[in-house]
Amino acid sequence: MREIYLDSPNLGVIEKNYLNRCIDSNYVSTVGPFVSEFEEKFASYLGVRKAVSVQSGTAAIYMALYELGIGPGDEVIVPVLTFIATVNPVMHLGATPVFVDVDPVTWNMDPEEVEKAITSKTKAILPVHLYGNPCNMDDLLDISRRYGIPIVEDATESLGAYYKDKMTGTFGEFGCFSFNGNKVITTGGGGMIVTEDERKASHIKYLINQARDSDREFYHSEVGFNYRMTNLEASLGLAQLERLSDFLVKKKGFNKIYREILSEDPDIEFQEQYEGAFSSWWMNSMKAEYIRGKVALVQDKLRLNGIPTRRIFMPIVEFPPYKKFKKGDYKNAYDIYETGLNLPSSTLNEIEQVEDAARIILEVLRNEK
Ligand SMILES: *Cc1c(COP(=O)(O)O)cnc(C)c1O
Repeated sequence: MREIYLDSPNLGVIEKNYLNRCIDSNYVSTVGPFVSEFEEKFASYLGVRKAVSVQSGTAAIYMALYELGIGPGDEVIVPVLTFIATVNPVMHLGATPVFVDVDPVTWNMDPEEVEKAITSKTKAILPVHLYGNPCNMDDLLDISRRYGIPIVEDATESLGAYYKDKMTGTFGEFGCFSFNGNKVITTGGGGMIVTEDERKASHIKYLINQARDSDREFYHSEVGFNYRMTNLEASLGLAQLERLSDFLVKKKGFNKIYREILSEDPDIEFQEQYEGAFSSWWMNSMKAEYIRGKVALVQDKLRLNGIPTRRIFMPIVEFPPYKKFKKGDYKNAYDIYETGLNLPSSTLNEIEQVEDAARIILEVLRNEK
């Protein structure tokens, strides 16, 4: 059997061509035409006014919160089940993360829990479209409007996903994307902030470029950052953007196969979509109560059969810097963590390989019953 990949990037001729053009032009750093071209194409793909490229998804989240003026004394509501990079920016700004549990079916931030967590100090709601699956944006936007609290979307895993005809990342004040090597598309490492607010977009663009004034040479009227994307990265981004729709079709196909084959076992459950939501299926995932306490063992057995898997994110309040923010038992997040797995989802895989993998997974799991 050909090697099957969990989340490896898919790079080829188009990427090589763009990179060659980039090198031939001698513009490899942050000044270069591909950066703005990537931003413009990205914004138009999402149907949003502005896109500002940055160094990473983490930098995108940090800058979005910074632009909202979030700092010490402020609270930001985040799901407890996510990658650590959602939350670290909140801490670096000196603000307080307020963790809420997720919905057991969609694995996403539960809007009811969000509303309960609001206080007079809440300055932002930070939903994560986990593994590419859109959050319930109707309910979250309703809460955001009623309380006047902005939403910053962590859409780092959900490029191409949409909810009721609107792309994830375009609902909130800001949407944040990542182009790390394992994401839906990659630039090697990079990120993007999207927004309808042109003034805020240009302010972020200015801040990430060392807050360098355009009309006075080496004059800086604010404390800036160097979070710029390079032309090399943007050239990869343009190539990957051309292939995005193929990637999404492939990932959707993988999801169909896993569902078809693995549902032969009625005890296997999947991450489900809200009504009107269409996941990017960045990561295909499953859970089964009977693997509780045996997840690592199951992973070892699958690995021996050539199938790489990944554990579900550990609830953030397990980590030393975050333990003190634990409020409640976060039962759903812990259940998913203790019984779930991410399955091979790289677009390098062929449909037939995923079929074979799904059959092996079914077999290995059956032996654990
Ligand atoms: C990948 C990821 C990020 C951070 O993106 P980087 O580009 O790696 O900094 C943030 N949040 C989530 C949920 C992610 O999966």
